[in-house]
Amino acid sequence: MLMKTLPVKQIQPGRRWIGRLPHGADLLDALTEICQRRDIRLGRIEAIGAVQRARMSFYDQAKQKYVEHSWAQPMEILLLIGNVSMKDGRPFVHAHLTLADARGRAFGGHLAQGTIVFACEFILEELRGARLTRQPDVETGLSLWSAARPARPRKPK
Ligand code: ZN
Repeated sequence: MLMKTLPVKQIQPGRRWIGRLPHGADLLDALTEICQRRDIRLGRIEAIGAVQRARMSFYDQAKQKYVEHSWAQPMEILLLIGNVSMKDGRPFVHAHLTLADARGRAFGGHLAQGTIVFACEFILEELRGARLTRQPDVETGLSLWSAARPARPRKPK
């Protein structure tokens, strides 16, 4: 079986930031705003901390749509990990989150708007050398990375 060519790119480190998000901020909106203000077109994010409440989604592969879940309680951010790339011409954050409740039970999912910061410490790394843009993907129904520019046909030698 032939594999489709995937956009695998060599990258180099760019600028880096470390910081804290404001109490009461929307976690996804705050990270997105930082990336858009600094024009981070490609990068990675990690964070730890705590949330006042959470909203995460799960992608139903059969129905090809996100199902959202809410947690109306304080929880620890065990790990937020995510990436930054371009979507609709702007820096876009895609992040996943593992949270723990007061008894240490873990929950996770795709970070959605409505997750409110109690305290959050993040590290943000810009990456350079590639340009990845999210485009609709027919097989999955998701908005996935594709090469921004189509590959040039090879010249015959
Ligand atoms: Zn996701």
